[in-house]
Amino acid sequence: MQITSKSQMKRICCQTGRGDWMDWHKITIPYKEVSLKFNKCSHFYNNNICKAACCRDENLMEVPTLSDEWAYLWKRMKKDNLRGTIERNMITSSHVCSFFKNNFCSLHNTKHKPFGCRMSPFTVHNDKLIVRSKYKKLICCTSKGEPAYEVFQSSLEALFGDSYRGIIENLSFGKDIEVLIEKRILSQIDDINSLRLKRDGSL
Ligand code: SF4
Ligand code: SF4
Repeated sequence: MQITSKSQMKRICCQTGRGDWMDWHKITIPYKEVSLKFNKCSHFYNNNICKAACCRDENLMEVPTLSDEWAYLWKRMKKDNLRGTIERNMITSSHVCSFFKNNFCSLHNTKHKPFGCRMSPFTVHNDKLIVRSKYKKLICCTSKGEPAYEVFQSSLEALFGDSYRGIIENLSFGKDIEVLIEKRILSQIDDINSLRLKRDGSL
């Protein structure tokens, strides 16, 4: 679907009960980008193949957090005596994330999993939904997999809420689409992107 004008945005917001159109921003989802193929995450795949490479780094693993996320994570790190630090909204630890336990994210399926992790592998840059460069280099990014927009449905949900189902359906037609994203979410994405860019210049 192409959203071509402000009046169309106003109409869509009104018809879908999305409130004030001023709270929304139009971005493009390039079909080719979000159709990059990935293997599905699973306990078996994590344990035996990928070793959750997305939660690791050969040097420092740095995980950006939002300003309303880090206080809980800091307390949890102290309470559970986890290694690593949180400074300027960035969790830092050597090689693997502080919250990685038994080959799995100990925050998975909790409201405390950082937004930057929940939206990954996607981010928004220059008004386009893209796959982060780190994920394009992972072992799970393989031509034998399935499109990113199908494998990472929960990441689309973190970004677009309930609209994610319609987005997946529209992408199945094999074309770029234009969608509305809440400005509040876009601002959180910008905060995470800034932390990542300060870290090593990549998203
Ligand atoms: S995103 Fe890739 S590397 Fe990370 S847990 Fe899933 S399959 Fe493994
Ligand atoms: S918080 Fe969880 S998903 Fe995010 S890097 Fe750490 S272990 Fe991985």
